[in-house]
This record gives sequence, C-alpha cells and structure tokens, in this order.
Amino acid sequence: MESEYVASRWTRGNFLFPTRLRITDQSVVRRKRSWFSVNEETVNARNIANVNIRTGLIWSDIRIETSGGSDPLDSHGHSKSDAREFQKRVQELQARAGGTPQGAAAAAGDTRACPYCAETIKKAAKICRFCNRDLS
Ligand SMILES: [Zn+2]
Repeated sequence: MESEYVASRWTRGNFLFPTRLRITDQSVVRRKRSWFSVNEETVNARNIANVNIRTGLIWSDIRIETSGGSDPLDSHGHSKSDAREFQKRVQELQARAGGTPQGAAAAAGDTRACPYCAETIKKAAKICRFCNRDLS
C-alpha cells in the first residue's frame, strides 16, 4: 500500500513542481521535479533514524533523518495533518521493516501511549523516543 504526500504549491520552491513524498512497502521516496530533470531519492525504512516535523504558522516541514550517514531528506510546505500522518506511517513502516525483536513486538501491538506527548512507544521503553522524557 502506497501513500503520497504532496507539498503545497503555495510554499517556497513548490509552485511549479511540488515535492512529493511517497511511502512504499519498504522505503520512503522523495521526488522533486525541475524543468529538466527529476530528482528522486529513496531511503530504505531500515535506514530511517527518525522523522522530525517542524510546524510553522501554517505549514509543516518534514525532515527524514537517516542512520546510513547520508544527508537527511527535507521536504517543506506540507499541511500539519499530512505531516503527522506521514510521520505515523513511517513509524509503522519502520516497525514492520525492523525485523528485530523490538520491531516485531511493536508490530504485534506491544505498545502504549506516552503519558506526556501521547505518541505511541514500546511498553518496555524507559525514555520516550519522541519527547525524551523519563518514564520510569
Ligand atoms: Zn513522549
């Protein structure tokens, strides 16, 4: 199942060719067109370290941090709800793609909501990976 998130045309650099973020079964693809070329970057879910959202007055910027030592992928000009949904989808994707016992546990529903920020975290977590608060 793929979903695509398109930046708003009314934001910087997106008027003619808005940036598109696509979530596939195993990866996130950022596609940015220009007049003469298409720039497409793919990050495997296993190499995604984190998805950060910076929300301004109207639009949200999405930053995908990678663990492979490559540059983070930025996309700006998304709606707040899109940005949050994108972040959630990527986290689900990470849980599925993890293949690790933790990933499997997360996929199996071994999670709870952080009491501080309400993000979904693992039951065994001692520190929230979203807000970094101590949960012990
Ligand atoms: Zn939290």
